[in-house]
Parts: sequence; C-alpha cells; structure tokens
Amino acid sequence: DVVESNRSFEFREDPSFWKDHNVQVIIRIRPLSNSEISLQGHGNCVRQESSQTMTWIGHPESRFTFDMVADENVTQEMLFKAAGVPMVENCMEGYNSCVFAYGQTGSGKTHTMLGDIEGGTRRHSVNCGMTPRVFEYLFSRIQKEREARREENIKFTCRCSFLEIYNEQILDLLDPSSVNLQIREDTKKGIHVEDLKEVEVTSARDVMQQLLQGAANRKVAATNMNRASSRSHSVFTCVIESKWESQGVTHHRFARFNLVDLAGSERQKSSGAEGERLKEATNINKSLSTLGLVIMNLVSISNGKSHHVPYRDSKLTFLLQDSLGGNAKTCIIANISPSSCCSLETLSTLKFAQRAKFIKNHAFVNEDASGDVLAMRIQIQNLKKEVARLR
Ligand code: ADP
Ligand code: MG
Repeated sequence: DVVESNRSFEFREDPSFWKDHNVQVIIRIRPLSNSEISLQGHGNCVRQESSQTMTWIGHPESRFTFDMVADENVTQEMLFKAAGVPMVENCMEGYNSCVFAYGQTGSGKTHTMLGDIEGGTRRHSVNCGMTPRVFEYLFSRIQKEREARREENIKFTCRCSFLEIYNEQILDLLDPSSVNLQIREDTKKGIHVEDLKEVEVTSARDVMQQLLQGAANRKVAATNMNRASSRSHSVFTCVIESKWESQGVTHHRFARFNLVDLAGSERQKSSGAEGERLKEATNINKSLSTLGLVIMNLVSISNGKSHHVPYRDSKLTFLLQDSLGGNAKTCIIANISPSSCCSLETLSTLKFAQRAKFIKNHAFVNEDASGDVLAMRIQIQNLKKEVARLR
C-alpha cells in the first residue's frame, strides 16, 4: 500500500488506516507556480519532515503533525486512493461522509476537488480531481455490489445536488433561478435545503454532466454579480440509498456524501469597502469565521469543557453540522502554497488544520431493518435529543 514515486516519504494508500479515525486532516502542498518561481528571492516557507510532519520556516519555526502531508509529487490519483476511496467505502457502509478543501485562493482547492473536468472523467486527464474520480469509483462499487448480492435483490438510488453559499445566501447551482434558499431542520428530513433541486444519477457520466452544468452556472452567477467565485463556498452532495431483502426483512441504508470547495481563507480586505462590498466582506468572513469558531468550541468540548457550538450562526456550519462533530466521517484537505510569498497565509491554514485535528465525530451506520428510512431518521433525532439531555 505504499506508492513509489520520486518522493522521499512513503504515501499511504491503505483505507484501513482511516477506519478508526472519524476526522482526517491532510495537508496538500502544491508546486510553486511560474510567477512564484520568477519572483526575486523566492523561497519555500515549509519543509516536509516525514509523511505526517512538516515545518513552517519562519519566526519561530513551527513543527506540525497531521494524518498525512502530501507534497507536489502526490498526484490526483494518489490522493484519490488515499482519501477518496475510503470515503466511498464509508458511504457504501452507510456512513455520512464529507470532504472539505480549505485554503487561501490559489492554493489548489478547486484543483483538488474538481481538477481538470472539461475532458470528462479520469480516463481523459491525469489532472482530473477528487469528485469525478469518487463517482467513477462509487458507481463501479455499486455495480459490483449488485452482482455479488443478486439474491438479496439489492437496489441503489443516488441523488445529487449542487449549491453555492455566497454572501450568506444559498444559490442552487443546478437551477440558478432558485436563489436565497433556506435551510430547514425537521424530524423527517433532518437538516436540508428547502426546494433544492435533486437529480437522480445512475452513472459517473450523469454526475459529470451535473458537475459541469453547476460549474458553468457558478461562473455565470459570479460574472453577473461581478465578483470572484473564490469568495463563495460550493457544496456538491450525493445521497446514496440502498435497499435489500434478507431473511424476509427489508433493509435500508442511507449515506450523505458532501464534497465542499470552501471560499478562499485569506483575510478579506474590508478597508475602504462600502455598501454591498462591505456586507460581502463581513458575510464571507462570517461562514468561514463561524467554521473556525465551531471547530474551536468542538475542541473545547473534546477537552471536557462544555461549550455552545454556534452551528446556526452561518449557513455553511448549519448545513454541514453533521460533518462537524456529528454523525459523519470527515476529511479536511488543507491546501497550501510552499512559496515564501504566502508564508503568513500558509501559517494560518496550518493552524486551522491543526485545530481541526482535535474534532471528534460520532459516525454511525444509517441503517434500519424495519423497512422505513424515515422512521430511522426520527429515531436518530430522538437519540440525539436524549444525548443532549443527558449532557
Ligand atoms: P483555489 O481553488 O484554491 O483558488 P486552484 O485550484 O484554482 O486554487 O489552483 C490555482 C492554480 O494552481 C491552478 O492553475 C491549478 O491548476 C494549480 N494547482 C493547484 N494545485 C496544484 C497541484 N497539486 N499540482 C499542479 N497544479 C496545481
Ligand atoms: Mg477555487
């Protein structure tokens, strides 16, 4: 399970490595860009020490440990095998799963999550990113499962949605006429976005089509509103449901898979901004700063201190509540540039990632054998309330 490359550190691809960890934090260091190389006196602001440790070269020098440090020699394929495959396996087992890409603008978030998708799936491009690879693998796994479990008459249903959070407003990327959608929580559906378009998908090609459509709509929205798409968060979600018969009982399994490309984490310059621009700067900070706060409070809780977690203070954290300290297996990929020109932003990303390592999620298999997925959800809801009461 160790991939050979011209890399001096082993790179683990063994999914079992993830089994006991509900939250994984990976640092991805992108290669220096041409403009960074051409800059006078450029240097590196980080140094990798091992497959899990790295040093930020500054004052004072700081050493960090993560679940994985991936340098520029780690390809899209290698990262997919290390992070994407186990997440798909989690979903197949009925665990909610979430992959976040965090980092400043230009650090490689979109490259990591989507990559080069114009050419279609990975058969066409080595630069194709996590999301298309994940779905190609998911549908091949579903096919295998169908063949292996014919007797149980197993059936799968996958539905996807794609949304953008900008300025604390939710836009449906699969139906851009739907703006300012609201997040609701009820016992039937759990936390969900009201009226968000859901499309049934039966192949990786179907998913690619939705991804491309959503990406195009995102570009149009950004152009129309005269703002950079780096200021919005995008969330691609696929709900995977399965149903099978065993010993006269119908079983249901359910998993929600979120793939999130966050807005650039760099400090927004709000000085001199007025009106819409100022509101935008504050609101963008709001979803990201609330994310930081939620993580900070979750860390306090895991240290035995009781704290209110302000999930509802931003759209992002409300929507992804389950993925942060809840019922999900979560992978955070923190992207950084190695260039000394980004030294301080890189340090801030490393600190964020280090805090995130302390989050403890409580993932459980979403399954019931009573023949009713909704009943199961209500049961979960009631259990959650009971846990809160006991706390
Ligand atoms: P972000 O989404 O964080 O703003 P991008 O993903 O758009 O950043 O990356 C910025 C540029 O760097 C793009 O041209 C992208 O292709 C390139 N890039 C990012 N990460 C890598 C990588 N690991 N290997 C090669 N090129 C990369
Ligand atoms: Mg991007």
